[in-house]
Amino acid sequence: MDHAAVTADLEAGHARLARWAAELEEWTAADILTWAADQYADRLTFATGFGPEGCVLIDLIGRRRLPIDIFTLDTGLLFPETHDLWRRLEDRYDLRIRSVTPALSVEGQAAAHGDHLWERQPEHCCGMRKVVPLKQELARVDAWITAIRRDQTPQRAGALVVEPDAKFDIAKVNPLVRWTKRQVWAHILEHDVPYNPLHDRGYPSIGCAPCTSAVKPGEDDRAGRWRGSEKTECGLHGPAQPAALTTA
Ligand code: SF4
Repeated sequence: MDHAAVTADLEAGHARLARWAAELEEWTAADILTWAADQYADRLTFATGFGPEGCVLIDLIGRRRLPIDIFTLDTGLLFPETHDLWRRLEDRYDLRIRSVTPALSVEGQAAAHGDHLWERQPEHCCGMRKVVPLKQELARVDAWITAIRRDQTPQRAGALVVEPDAKFDIAKVNPLVRWTKRQVWAHILEHDVPYNPLHDRGYPSIGCAPCTSAVKPGEDDRAGRWRGSEKTECGLHGPAQPAALTTA
């Protein structure tokens, strides 16, 4: 295909996603997930970091028995509570959440790049342990589901139900984009959805153990991520750039 044909193809694809986004804007999250499963079949995946929103999506997928692939980026540095939640969700909904791991073990990374790389070069650490494995997974699909909400960050305020993801060159489906944090927790409590007990101990946003701390009353939900560093996102949902990502 020549350059003009590739451009025309891309524009047609973006126009189709824009039409779908307008059509799906008022749909329920469960119906959006069902639509995505029909639309993309086995070319669809869901990457979860087991945040409250991710647990809600797993609940919706599990209760409708939707045939959607689910995986998590197991950096080797997750909290024991996160591993326990992972197993509880699999048991509760009788589904499998795949483990996607980086090329280097934590010990291998320490041998190659020095101990505690996350303290010295968190972008490099996230790049190797999250971004590269994620890119490899997303290269195999046409669309991925995320748990982002519009009111989480200014960067996410313009997110659509379905939109092109320039970073990974596939479509991105955001079923919870209209939800508030209050709605997420109301759903969890109403349906008794398993969630990470660290949320009850002052950790509203949970990632790798070395880069996550509890927040004080009044602090932003993400203040405990990479505390003391300028880094605020793994980079998963931002504009196209070389390295980084965030899980939900
Ligand atoms: S969150 Fe921290 S430990 Fe985890 S991959 Fe990123 S820098 Fe490394």
